[in-house]
Amino acid sequence: MAIVKVYNKGYDRSTGIGELLHTTTVRHAMGMIRRRVAEPADLVLVDDEIVPVVLELTREISGAWIEGGQRTSVGFSFLAVHERDHWTCAYCGRGVSKRPRCDELLATVDHILPSSRGGESSWLNLVSSCKGCNNRKADRTPEEAGMQLRFDPFDPMVSYRVGGHVEQIFVAA
Ligand SMILES: [Zn+2]
Repeated sequence: MAIVKVYNKGYDRSTGIGELLHTTTVRHAMGMIRRRVAEPADLVLVDDEIVPVVLELTREISGAWIEGGQRTSVGFSFLAVHERDHWTCAYCGRGVSKRPRCDELLATVDHILPSSRGGESSWLNLVSSCKGCNNRKADRTPEEAGMQLRFDPFDPMVSYRVGGHVEQIFVAA
């Protein structure tokens, strides 16, 4: 069975230069196209059927875990949570930083279920948040605070999120 190469967004179709994330099967590639996680960047004709051989993600993903196809785990840290969330506040969508231009945009990590109420420090309970939103939310859940998560946290060990889809990393044998 043909192997499909999956590139990060930014793949250059004319030169074939890009960031190779992993390879997958044609069947899985078709699913990724259907879910709009990726677009075909190169197609070939196999047995009268047009099949993709190169895919480009529809949204760029970044961070150490994108090499996940070769990894079995990603070290958990608050820094890694910011990396996963692209240094973006999960509540207001503004960019956060360790050295922000204003104090409000200081990068903090928010426990979705507050730690004072048993919320764990884990991939699924933590999101990147600006200091302003974190202070506003305080010891409340997002619902109680009337705040909405712009994206859901996920465990980068097993998946990456592209355009609203959690994509399992699936490496063809
Ligand atoms: Zn914010």
